[in-house]
Amino acid sequence: MQTDYDLVIIGGGPAGLTAGIYAARARMNVVLYEKAATGGQVIVSDWIENYPGFPEGVSGYDLGDKMLNQAKNLGLPIEYEDITAIEVDGEKKVVHLGTKKTVTAKAVIIASGASPRKLNVGEEKFMSKGVSFCATCDGPFFRDKTVVAVGGGDTAVQESIFLTRFAKKVYLVHRRNELRAAKILQERAFKNEKIEFVWDSVVSGMDGFFSVENVKVKNVKTGEEKNIKADGCFIWVGINPNIDFLKNSLNSESNIKAGKSLKMDDGGFIYTNERMETSISGIFAAGDVRTTPLKQIATAVGDAAIAAMSAEHYVENLQD
Ligand code: NAP
Repeated sequence: MQTDYDLVIIGGGPAGLTAGIYAARARMNVVLYEKAATGGQVIVSDWIENYPGFPEGVSGYDLGDKMLNQAKNLGLPIEYEDITAIEVDGEKKVVHLGTKKTVTAKAVIIASGASPRKLNVGEEKFMSKGVSFCATCDGPFFRDKTVVAVGGGDTAVQESIFLTRFAKKVYLVHRRNELRAAKILQERAFKNEKIEFVWDSVVSGMDGFFSVENVKVKNVKTGEEKNIKADGCFIWVGINPNIDFLKNSLNSESNIKAGKSLKMDDGGFIYTNERMETSISGIFAAGDVRTTPLKQIATAVGDAAIAAMSAEHYVENLQD
């Protein structure tokens, strides 16, 4: 097994695969590590119509699959490994794999993406028993049933519309009285007779015997709590960066105190400059894991192209 690389890419979503496509074409000695399924959050998106090149739109699964095949065809090595830590040893980056092995690299691109945020109102008990974060995966289980969806962003609105293909009724619970989602999605949701909006409200709990039977919803203005009889609850209240592997290594308490950690915002999203360079030389970040005003597939692939070019220049300069 090879253990010394020019570039290690962490994450196999659109950002990681794009960085891999560029690095493979630049003939870098590169490897991409993905812990679960390549494609990232994209593969659970039902339908994508704002990524150029697909006039009728494209399913998230198909788009992820095309990106993966393109990267493979260009010779990008992809390995399925969970990254557990990164350390910096002089100019070398030491990357720890879940299989207890380590590899070293001159440069690292962090493209580990983000995962759905939880409500922490007791939903853990009902995971796969009515609670879901993925309409594409679980929507068909709710044919002719009633579901509650939570959130007001693009994901909540788009996925609620998708759920109406199956569910007879979708209550969309949002903590304010206006949506954050793109206007085109809002218009479609407002026109959809199966969606009922529950404004100024949050989900405060849920109960049921084997699976969800009842969702508790609290009005944040009046404090009034009501019960919605529902068979499921879909949670779409934003995303958290996938940075656990940094918390116990580069961004450990001691490194943060010593000012040696990767600089992040309060939510844990990684700061970069316009070249996708992080605060540590030779470490780059791209896509949803970094602070960016727009988290889209189009922006993730743009970030990644820049990150790959920057990493290539960085490695070349080291060799000079
Ligand atoms: P988001 O844009 O951050 O929206 C999260 C929503 O959840 C907001 O409406 C927020 O309310 C609400 N929320 C947050 N915490 C909450 C809590 N504890 N309880 C109740 N509600 C809470 O997240 P997202 O919709 O997952 O989207 C993430 C990114 O992916 C965005 O950049 C989005 O544009 C992108 N995306 C794009 C598409 C597309 O273009 N088709 C599809 C999916 C996602 P407030 O509004 O009050 O803050």
